[in-house]
Amino acid sequence: RAPKQRLPEWLKTAIPVGKNYTQIKKNLRELKLHTVCEEAKCPNISDCWGGGEHQTATATIMLMGDECTRGCRFCSVKTSKAPKPLDIHEPENTAEAISRWGLDYVVLTSVDRDDLADGGSAHFAETIMKLKQKAPKILVECLTGDFQGDMECVARVATSGLDVYAHNIETVEALSAYVRDPRAKFRQSIAVLAHAKKSKPGLMTKTSMMLGCGETEAEVIHAMDELRKAEVDVLTLGQYMRPTKKHMRVHEYVKPEVFERYQKLAEERGFKYVASGPLVRSSYKAGEFYISNILK
Ligand code: SF4
Ligand code: SF4
Repeated sequence: RAPKQRLPEWLKTAIPVGKNYTQIKKNLRELKLHTVCEEAKCPNISDCWGGGEHQTATATIMLMGDECTRGCRFCSVKTSKAPKPLDIHEPENTAEAISRWGLDYVVLTSVDRDDLADGGSAHFAETIMKLKQKAPKILVECLTGDFQGDMECVARVATSGLDVYAHNIETVEALSAYVRDPRAKFRQSIAVLAHAKKSKPGLMTKTSMMLGCGETEAEVIHAMDELRKAEVDVLTLGQYMRPTKKHMRVHEYVKPEVFERYQKLAEERGFKYVASGPLVRSSYKAGEFYISNILK
């Protein structure tokens, strides 16, 4: 039997509290919306949803249901070959709900819908357009799948009025086939990010990687270089946490000082913004960065 993996001190976080947190949670239940923050049991939820005086409130909403056509080894979302049909009212309902929460920044993401001809790209684009009509000040980041490399779908989302186009490579090229669903490919993901930028020059692009999956430093640096060739602006690096025992094991808990080294290495390569740390998640404090660095 494999030894139990103990959580190092630097990964333990506070229990969620606060008015904003309770209100968002209640509202989500009423509207039957899903968040990655909850589904992935994200350790930063009290920080992100709490918002408050010195913080930017951020949440990650999951569109197009909670069943994914893919099955990545690290992910706790349910897999289904035939997920439920899209809710045609979702773009309107989501836009309306988000516009009422007073969030500064929202991340819209989704399960992968390989069962849909356009991968759900029109649904995504419609949600963004409606949200921007109702709340023009809110900053919108979309974290999309790869649309199976269909660049028309990428362009549809990239030109829908969003502020940040995110697509995660998740891991280094050498581990991609093991960590991600085999339909998700490192090269394809790089091409998606490059095409988003090409579809709307000046659009901010972003990606994330999980560390602790068995990657080497040289492989991480290689990924950084490939991302910069695709002109990706923002990179986040965080620790992989195993959601349940059925999921891929954590290979190692990467030390905070190693994350710091990667932060420097990435900054030297010219990313506009890098967040690297054990608790960093794709969307962690995303709003604070954009509001303080880009828009001021
Ligand atoms: Fe949600 Fe992302 Fe914050 Fe986690 S880091 S609570 S997923 S917004
Ligand atoms: Fe999870 Fe995304 Fe992979 Fe689906 S494609 S299993 S939602 S990481």
